Amino acid sequence: MKIVKKISEIKEIVSNFKKNKKEINLIPTMGNIHTGHLSLLSKANKFDGINIVSIFVNPTQFNDEDDFNNYPNTFEADMEILSKANCSIIFAPSRNQVYPDGIKSEKTVFKYRDILCDLYRLGHFDGVTTIVKILFNLIEPSKVFFGEKDFQQLKIIEQLIFQNNLKIHLIKCPSIRDADGMSFSSRYSTFSKDEKSKFKKCAQIINANLLKLKRDFNHKILDNIEKELRSYGISKIDYFEVRNEETLSLSVNNESSRLFIAFYINKVRVIDNFLLY
Ligand code: AMP
Repeated sequence: MKIVKKISEIKEIVSNFKKNKKEINLIPTMGNIHTGHLSLLSKANKFDGINIVSIFVNPTQFNDEDDFNNYPNTFEADMEILSKANCSIIFAPSRNQVYPDGIKSEKTVFKYRDILCDLYRLGHFDGVTTIVKILFNLIEPSKVFFGEKDFQQLKIIEQLIFQNNLKIHLIKCPSIRDADGMSFSSRYSTFSKDEKSKFKKCAQIINANLLKLKRDFNHKILDNIEKELRSYGISKIDYFEVRNEETLSLSVNNESSRLFIAFYINKVRVIDNFLLY
C-alpha cells in the first residue's frame, strides 16, 4: 500500500495507470476509517481496477469551526486498517496541496438543494462538490464509491457527474449499521459513555417508530418521534422527514421513500436515513 501526499505524485501515478489502460476505483473519505468505509472498499474489490482511498478532512465542507477542529484524526490507525483491506493507494494530501490558491468553494450543483442538510449546514454541499470535482480531475476514476448513509450527498454527486458529462460510474453503497440499526459514522467515535447510551436510546425510539411508519404511514408518527426524543432530552433536531429517494421531494406514502433524520447529541450531529418499503 502506497501513501501519496503530493499532487504531483498522484498525477504521475494516475498517468502511468492510464498509459497501462488500468481503471481506477476512487473511494473518497475524511478518514477515521470504520466498517462503513470498508464496505465501500470491499464493493470496489468486486470490480477490476486499482483502488485509491482518499483521506482528506475538507475544510470547505464544514460550516462550523468547532466541528472541523474536533473531527477525529486517526491517520496511523487508518493506515493499519487499510493496509489489511486490499487498498493499493492512499491519497492523503495536505490542505495547501488541495487548495493552493486559498480555501474556497463554488456552488455548481443546484438540484437537491434548499432541503434537508442544505438548510442547516450552509455551504456544506458547495464544499463537498468542490473537493469531489478536484479529486475527479486529479484521479480520473472510472468508478467512484459513495455511501447511502449520506443520501443527499449521493444525489448531489450523481447530479455533479451528470451535469459535467463525466464518464464516471457512481456506485451507491448501502449503509452499514450497528447492532441498534444506526449507520456507523466517524463522528460517533468521540461519544462519551453517557452520549453512547443516549445514542442507543435514540436508536430504540427511532426503530420502534420505523416499524409503525412501514406498517401504516402517517405524518403524526414523525411528530411522535420528535416528541419522544425531546422528552428524552434531545433538544436540537434539524429534521425528521419522509422523502422520495429518487426526487428527494416530500412523500405522502411509503413508496420509494426513506425516513431522513438529523439531530444532535450534545455537539455531535447524527444523520441517517432508513428505507420505508
Ligand atoms: P466520510 O468519511 O464520513 O466523509 O465518508 C466517506 C464515505 O463513506 C461516504 O461516501 C459516506 O457516505 C460513506 N459512509 C460513511 N459511513 C457509512 C456507513 N455506515 N455505511 C456505508 N457508507 C458509509
